[in-house]
Amino acid sequence: MGERNPHLVERLQGFGTTIFTEMSVLAARTGAINLGQGFPDADGPDEVLEAAVAAIRAGHNQYPPGTGIPALRRAVADHQQRFYGLEVDPDTEVLVAAGASEAIAAAMLALVEPGDEVVVFEPYFDHYATSIALAGGRRRVVRLQEPDLHFDVADLEAVIGPDTRLILLNSPHNPTGKVFDAEELGHIAALAIEHDLLVVTDEVYEHLIFDGLPHLPLASLPDMAERTLTISSAGKSFGFTGWKIGWAHGPAELVSAVLVAKQSLTYVSGGPFQHAVVTALGLGDAYFAELADDLQDRRDLFCAGLEAAGFGSHPPSGTYFATADIRPLGYEDGVEFCLALPERCGVVAVPSGVFYDDEVAGRHLVRFAFCKQPEVLTEAVERLATLAPGRGAR
Ligand code: PMP
Repeated sequence: MGERNPHLVERLQGFGTTIFTEMSVLAARTGAINLGQGFPDADGPDEVLEAAVAAIRAGHNQYPPGTGIPALRRAVADHQQRFYGLEVDPDTEVLVAAGASEAIAAAMLALVEPGDEVVVFEPYFDHYATSIALAGGRRRVVRLQEPDLHFDVADLEAVIGPDTRLILLNSPHNPTGKVFDAEELGHIAALAIEHDLLVVTDEVYEHLIFDGLPHLPLASLPDMAERTLTISSAGKSFGFTGWKIGWAHGPAELVSAVLVAKQSLTYVSGGPFQHAVVTALGLGDAYFAELADDLQDRRDLFCAGLEAAGFGSHPPSGTYFATADIRPLGYEDGVEFCLALPERCGVVAVPSGVFYDDEVAGRHLVRFAFCKQPEVLTEAVERLATLAPGRGAR
């Protein structure tokens, strides 16, 4: 949360520069290993890179169509059919955006009236709070409870009221790595139907799931496709976070509503990258299986290292984030811990407190991104091991 800025509109007061920017600046200044912001330290598949270069050379360098190039809308629809059996009309039910971030912000601007309430699960990705605030909406949070990150259905019921407009659901979940299971999704769906709510789902980590768990899009549950806007992105699935190609799909009327807001944000973006993402979405099953397996190995390496270093930690089921409890190491405050960490041992993490409304709930937790080369993770855990009392900082 930032300090008061006299120029900033009231509805955005309190939001400062995102913690990721702050921590990345700290990482650059100290030369520490940056496990703060979630971006891979290697490029995605060569053939996707080549497709981007070819698209630039082929002259796809002017404004793409407002809803995205037809081939990409078709590729998104095919992907949803292939992995989840969802029927999506590429002409009317898909919208390409400047990353999932823009799709989320546009969805809030298009669907939320000032004063409407939006339900999110806490901790939540900080972009949700600003997007809801931009729209003049109010967020209502439902806590994911430690240690197993379940939520009480009664808590969800309790926050739903006459002003509730929609539920904003993120699975696999940043920052916790939780993957919502069929039963939990069933509860959310039942309440959405009972109270006639829309649900916006952020599924950007859909292919980063471990231990053979399935990803279940909420839109695949009975009677949910008609009230769900499904959002995802090429950033996480293909390792090109800088390309910012995302998409939303859902019923035609919902998608065209979001388009009205989206066209006043970027209008269009990433022309040649849209072509490359067509190639990416069409990669064979082996690519997606290896992506998850490879990341699972890194999770295991990193989480074993966290445990050996004395942190409390539960390996995540999805995403590339691991949450660690700093209390066993004798620390209480994640912000203080993360600000000192680069100097103390040359690693950057993010204090999980920034993902909570409740000041106490996430104070003792920090989040590390493990989407880095195994040797970088090995070095990071060796450095973290020096934190344990009696082992001395280096
Ligand atoms: N949703 C979640 C949960 C994320 O973690 C991120 C990236 N950190 C995004 C959306 C943003 O995706 P994109 O880069 O495609 O805008």
